[in-house]
Amino acid sequence: MEQFIPKYVQGATGDWEVVIGLEIHAQVASEAKLFSGSSTKFGAEPNTHVSFVCSAMPGMLPVINEECIRQAVRTGLAMGCEIHLRSVFDRKNYFYADLPQGYQISQFKDPIVGEGEIVVDLEDGTTKTIGVERLHLEQDAGKSMHDQHPTQTYVDLNRSGVALMEIVSKPDMRSAEEAGAYFRKIRTLVRYAGTCDGNMDQGSMRADVNVSVRRPGAELGIRSETKNVNSVRFMMQVIAFETRRQIDLLEDGGEVLQETRQFDPASGTTSSLRSKEEAHDYRYFPDPDLLPLEFTQEFVDDLAKALPELPDDKRNRLINDLGVSAYNAAVLVAEKESADYFESLLDSLAHKTGKAKEELATQAANWVIGDLFGALKKTGKSISESPVSLKDGAELLALQIDGTISGRIAKDVFEIMLDTGKNPELIVEEKGLKQVSDTGAIDAIIDEVIADNQDKLAQYRGGKDKLFGFFVGQVMKKTQGKANPQVVNQLLKPKLDG
Ligand code: ADP
Ligand code: MG
Repeated sequence: MEQFIPKYVQGATGDWEVVIGLEIHAQVASEAKLFSGSSTKFGAEPNTHVSFVCSAMPGMLPVINEECIRQAVRTGLAMGCEIHLRSVFDRKNYFYADLPQGYQISQFKDPIVGEGEIVVDLEDGTTKTIGVERLHLEQDAGKSMHDQHPTQTYVDLNRSGVALMEIVSKPDMRSAEEAGAYFRKIRTLVRYAGTCDGNMDQGSMRADVNVSVRRPGAELGIRSETKNVNSVRFMMQVIAFETRRQIDLLEDGGEVLQETRQFDPASGTTSSLRSKEEAHDYRYFPDPDLLPLEFTQEFVDDLAKALPELPDDKRNRLINDLGVSAYNAAVLVAEKESADYFESLLDSLAHKTGKAKEELATQAANWVIGDLFGALKKTGKSISESPVSLKDGAELLALQIDGTISGRIAKDVFEIMLDTGKNPELIVEEKGLKQVSDTGAIDAIIDEVIADNQDKLAQYRGGKDKLFGFFVGQVMKKTQGKANPQVVNQLLKPKLDG
């Protein structure tokens, strides 16, 4: 449910509203670069993935990589944006050592993807719709290395010409939380669509963070733009710092300058790089080496059909068809690997137990999120590195569902699985952990417990009902937790009541 609650920041002279817009750079997942066949592989020796095109040798001509076009269209579709059947590549001219062409090929007036809307979930349970302005394709530049030589700068052109998608939001975000949620949602979407690996450590995704403040309801204020922020945490620090800085400036009677800033992770602050007056005049014009990019609606439709189920659809299906709680569903779909693990586990469990998935889904989701994720978190592992295979996870749950082991014992077995990598059936067998449902055996233990606790029995019969739990506990203790609690309850009640 859309619920608009404005969030204002208090200043000394009244309330302020923060306005944020993000320009996200996402590296296209593709073997080859945007206009050459050179590899995009991360971590190679400097200048080993460089063709004559990437190094801008005279006379070289760009040839468009169709896979990069498909990836941009897939991304646009995953974000629910308008796809433009005709777009244009422009030259963005500037001079820098890591840009051998002297211009970057980008898209300016006619991007490949147009407007759309992204719905994000906020912590208070509300949602917010954030507009996307456009997505355009562009080349990455090379990398200047200032730390290789005391007096010289080296240039690595491996990244030169790698395809980037720039995803530009509307200035629709009003808090650091909203900006973080929007960025994470875009990351989830590109990872589902397989169009960007979302790997922020390797620079596959980064954002330019635009921040301004205004009095509630007033015109948009002057913004600062902090470049190349490469984690969600840093993004939130930038927003917090810029908000404070701009409010303080304005309240002291000063004005915010439109400028480009940089973030310093060590101090959590931003500082000015250049003002608007120093801004480049990029002299954009259509690249004469490239024809306008045109494709058919059929090309787009085929890509749409081949897209995997997207996170919002998946979440709704988990909630509506399988009865998973909204919270659990949101956690599971945030990473495609988690959702895939859960769904395969559920398939396997349904197969093993012969029960319907909707009967099993809640328990399976609780186990994946509570037990498995808990254990992974402790060891800093991701789901793809899980020490517990899908097969063993499903087996553990199946043992619990068919009554072979109790829920309490299942936790112990899981601990042993994590430590030893053994399969749960083997552990249950070796350690003799099978649940005891044999009424004769349980009966005998109940009798012992009652004989040993005559005083408690008298108190129970005198009206202290709560002692029922004490007796259950004693029986469980005597059986090392192996007695079937349901059977214990059934047998104990009549004996205590006498
Ligand atoms: P440029 O290309 O010069 O950076 P754009 O108009 O493309 O400028 O805007 C870039 C980003 O800045 C967009 O994400 C947009 O939403 C955001 N933005 C524009 N005006 C403001 C503002 N007043 N406050 C915060 N963000 C803004
Ligand atoms: Mg910008």
